Amino acid sequence: MTQNTQKIALVTGASRGIGAAIAERLARDGFTVVINYSGSVAPAEALAQKIQQQGGRAMTAQADISNADAVRGLFDAAEAAFGGVDVLVNNAGIMKLSPIADTQDEDFDQQIAVNLKGTFNTLREASRRLRDGGRIINFSSSVVGLLLPGYGVYAATKAAVEAMTAILTRELRGRGITVNAVAPGPTATSLFLDGKSSEQIDRLARMAPLERLGEPEDIAASVAFLAGPDGAWINGQTLRANGGIV
Ligand code: NDP
Repeated sequence: MTQNTQKIALVTGASRGIGAAIAERLARDGFTVVINYSGSVAPAEALAQKIQQQGGRAMTAQADISNADAVRGLFDAAEAAFGGVDVLVNNAGIMKLSPIADTQDEDFDQQIAVNLKGTFNTLREASRRLRDGGRIINFSSSVVGLLLPGYGVYAATKAAVEAMTAILTRELRGRGITVNAVAPGPTATSLFLDGKSSEQIDRLARMAPLERLGEPEDIAASVAFLAGPDGAWINGQTLRANGGIV
């Protein structure tokens, strides 16, 4: 609890799902957390209150990460409240599944805007403003390896995130900042569960040798490792946290 107490962690998309579990876990590990969200104000505020009641430090900050000005404002708000940012967790993301032949322009554009441009916006800001010795944890997906039909555009945005992860590692040489990505497999959040039948969910859950869905806390544990002292020597890697599915 004591080792990270001076560190500030900004988690994008932390109102729900994996991001909320990450914010809660990092707060428990002693980080001060900035809970970013785009629309879900009530759950974001409830999470901040929960963390504060448990003795942690947290604030909420609304920003649509696909908007570069909003992302600048997000870092401004974190710096104004806490003096700086040490850890960026680029968790916010959306998924729209369809075969490439049937994909609507709007779904393509939205996934590029949030998953790719949004991650770029926060990476650019973090490259300029993260304190030396910091950590950046991006979000890919195991579907980059699984290559399931219907995931073409979504997987393409995540493959691009993996490429930026590896290149930013090199660009930040000399500042003691690590850049890695976590690539979850099927994880029990609304992003994964919504729109699927229970048969589809069961089939996907059984694909991993560990024969269950990931829980948000499983992914939060991987992020906590990369953000904390034990992850210090991991740099430029994509960690597939998925129960062995690929
Ligand atoms: P959820 O849909 O459960 O939560 C998404 C979060 O992102 C919400 O807090 C949402 O906030 C936020 N968000 C969405 N769009 C924006 C935006 N434009 N700006 C800021 N915040 C935004 O998703 P998961 O928790 O499942 O996913 C988290 C990450 O993990 C994503 O990057 C996803 O691609 C990745 N992933 C998930 C897998 C899974 O099976 N669940 C598997 C592999 C990867 P709000 O409600 O306020 O919009």
